[in-house]
This record gives sequence, structure tokens and C-alpha cells, in this order.
Amino acid sequence: MSHSLIDRIDALLPQTQCGECSYGACRPYATAIAEKGEALTRCPPGGVKTLRALGELLQQDVTPYIDTMAATTRPPTVAVIQEDLCIGCTKCIQVCPVDAIVGAAKLMHTVISDDCTGCRLCIEPCPMDCIDLLALEDTPAEAQRKADKARQHYERRQTRLEPSTPIPTTAAEISKKDYLAAALARAAQKRSSRESNE
Ligand code: SF4
Ligand code: SF4
Ligand code: SF4
Repeated sequence: MSHSLIDRIDALLPQTQCGECSYGACRPYATAIAEKGEALTRCPPGGVKTLRALGELLQQDVTPYIDTMAATTRPPTVAVIQEDLCIGCTKCIQVCPVDAIVGAAKLMHTVISDDCTGCRLCIEPCPMDCIDLLALEDTPAEAQRKADKARQHYERRQTRLEPSTPIPTTAAEISKKDYLAAALARAAQKRSSRESNE
């Protein structure tokens, strides 16, 4: 499957990165549409606008799904933290897919409004119930600018969260890994036999 089709589908998704499509984020949903013919109706933040755009790109008649999609379309929102209630637990920072929350342990946290996609993922983990969602009325140009930024922030976060130790792939790397594992096992064996003799 050409990457350009996935890119073109991804470009039409709102980049909320909410996971409501059940693919965890926008890019995997775009891939599923391109590679598995996944339904075009799985994105509530994109709603009817996204459904129509996807239908046009993929030359699918989406008319039968417009009413259902209109009923499930989720209007854009932005999260706001009631800072006087925040206990600085960092749970919201850990789940934010686009790094839109700043704060440190035991210190007040704040949402960077311009970066927040309104994905809602921070609401449920907050033990103080101090994150609210406010309605947002961006112009189409503003919404597109934020979507492009959200894509970049999501990708940057994914790169940061990737394991820093490369997975061994070549025969030499695998045998080195086996050697290390065997050495660790031998050391553990020696330690336990020493402890049982004491
Ligand atoms: S906005 Fe949410 S539901 Fe729509 S494609 Fe992205 S992750 Fe999936
Ligand atoms: S601040 Fe909350 S609603 Fe906004 S992007 Fe981050 S997790 Fe989503
Ligand atoms: S999850 Fe709630 S209490 Fe914890 S840091 Fe975030 S806003 Fe503050």
C-alpha cells in the first residue's frame, strides 16, 4: 500500500488523537482505511465533514451514513484545568497524546490551549475531577493549523516514547543478546547457590 494514500487519508482526519475510532490515534485509522477498507464512519471528532472528505477521496458514496454521523459528531473542545484544585499528580500529563499539559510533580498543571485537541483523555484519570472541557469555535483555517501542529506533536511524543534500546535484528546482534542473557543467568545462578550455602 502506498504511503501517499495513507498520508492523504491522514491529512483529512482531525488529528484529535482521541482513539475513539478504536485505532488508538489518527494515523493507524488512516492506515486501516487504506489497507483494510475500514469504514469511514469511525471518527466522531471529524464528523460529517471528515466523512464527506474521505468519501470524496476514496470515491465512496457516503450519503447513507450522513444522518448517523451527524448524530454522533463531536464538536471541538479545549481542556481547562481548575488550577486551585490541582494536586500536581501528573496523571493528566502522562496520558496527553500531544504534550499539551505543562506542570511538575506536586505543582499546579496547566493546559496549553493552542496545543490541546480536546481529545478528553485527561478527564477520566484526574483524581480531583478538576479538568473541564470548553466549547471551541475555530475557523476552518485555525482548525487546520491546529490539526497540523497536533500531528507533529503526536509524532514527536511517539518518537520520544519509543524504547531507546534498539531491538536486535542481525545474527550478530542476536547472538550478543543471547550471550548477555546467558551471562546474567549464570550470575543469578551463582548468587542463589551462594545464598543457599550461607
Ligand atoms: S480524531 Fe480520534 S476518532 Fe478520529 S481518527 Fe483521530 S483518533 Fe480516530
Ligand atoms: S489537555 Fe487533555 S483534552 Fe487536551 S489534548 Fe491533552 S489529554 Fe487531550
Ligand atoms: S490529573 Fe488533575 S490533579 Fe492531577 S495534575 Fe492533572 S489536573 Fe492536576
